[in-house]
Amino acid sequence: MRYVSTRGAGAPKRFSEILLEGLAADGGLYVPETFPKADLAAWRGLTYPELALRVLSCFIDDMPELETLVKRAYHPRVFGGEEVTPLKTLEPGLHLLCLSNGPTLAFKDIALQLLGELFESALERERSTLNILGATSGDTGSAAEYAMRGKRAIRVFMLSPHKRMSAFQSAQMYALQDANIHNLAVKGVFDDCQDMVKTVNADAAFKARHRIGAVNSINWARVAAQVVYYFKGYFAATKSDDESVSFAVPSGNFGNIYAGYVARAMGLPIKRLILASNENEVLHEFFRTGRYRVRREVLHTTSPSMDISKASNFERYVYDLTGREAARVRDLWRRLDAEGEFDISHSPYWPRVAQSGFVSGKSAHADRISTIRNVYQRYNAIIDPHTADGVKVGLAYREPGVALICLETAQPVKFAKTIRDALGRDPERPAEFLNLERLPQRYKLIEPDAAAVKRYIAAHS
Ligand SMILES: *Cc1c(COP(=O)(O)O)cnc(C)c1O
Repeated sequence: MRYVSTRGAGAPKRFSEILLEGLAADGGLYVPETFPKADLAAWRGLTYPELALRVLSCFIDDMPELETLVKRAYHPRVFGGEEVTPLKTLEPGLHLLCLSNGPTLAFKDIALQLLGELFESALERERSTLNILGATSGDTGSAAEYAMRGKRAIRVFMLSPHKRMSAFQSAQMYALQDANIHNLAVKGVFDDCQDMVKTVNADAAFKARHRIGAVNSINWARVAAQVVYYFKGYFAATKSDDESVSFAVPSGNFGNIYAGYVARAMGLPIKRLILASNENEVLHEFFRTGRYRVRREVLHTTSPSMDISKASNFERYVYDLTGREAARVRDLWRRLDAEGEFDISHSPYWPRVAQSGFVSGKSAHADRISTIRNVYQRYNAIIDPHTADGVKVGLAYREPGVALICLETAQPVKFAKTIRDALGRDPERPAEFLNLERLPQRYKLIEPDAAAVKRYIAAHS
């Protein structure tokens, strides 16, 4: 399998060449030259690690150690059991696919645990090291740290806004005592953290000297890892390979649902990909109108991991809508950079949106609260606010005879306040997190200044 950039520059590359690279040099995102075909009959009935190996081998064919890495990433100890992503049936034809059984209780663990193994293996082969620099408002940072902790060739420098995350979220990160994990608590807000990362990355000489890398959601390995559980969920919810299902996906950067699109392109019988936005409805607007409009401001909501102003994986999908014409993608993104938006509703690409299976909806705070309540009353299950956005929009598109699988993207304990507001009670805590907030914490408080980050990295790498 070879990979090309959505903006078309450069020769096709092998997987191991794009793994550590992030964005392509022309500013585009890497996509496989073609989508491989699934073998449903052979894949049904496999365990999670077996299935992951079959799916991932379609995309990663130049890392002979892949099987070992997959077994390590999806070990039952890491994901609380053999199933990794168990299916919970609420009633016949309505399911939750539970993706948040990893170490940080959010679905990002599924991709990042694999990414940690892939990075370590690639760096060992090259005999080099990597300094991962990132900014987080919660889920991504902790998932990255738990994936990279204790890895000799990798250091993590994670910026987070001091005192602006939930007590649970900051304790999850700051309680890590591994020497290769550096939590930098910034006296500022998340946007300051993000700006600092951008400024450091803009200094090409510093970046090269200190081997600065990222684990952001545009890495193809993360997409590939997420394709696996669409197959797993399908097999668990159906009896035969001629049934179709629909998936409801709480969406932010379009990474999770794009993996579903890839699974569908590989031949998985997905009827609809139901995209749920929260109040930040950039993507819902696009799927409703054909207009993609980047926002200047992000609204801070009670499903914070879906709070986005633009969707970083979206370009991969648009590349396919254009019939894989990189020149058209370049045109559209030039317009986006100049005018903050583009509109494809009058282009030949627009009918392809419906053909690709996508529908969308939005969910606001009051919807989350009532959905959490309804699911609790009817099914005695507690779902987190992000999952609630997905369930709310998913139910609006439910059709008789087609199973609806709602992706559960985080455990409710991470967002206890919203659960209390909805149910008047606290969500249960898994035993290993009982004392989390009382563990000793280790972080470095820094000013909102990129120079301070550079000094810290230079002194610690
Ligand atoms: C990251 C995240 C999302 C959004 O996923 P995307 O891949 O960015 O669309 C939804 N829910 C939770 C809990 C998340 O952490």
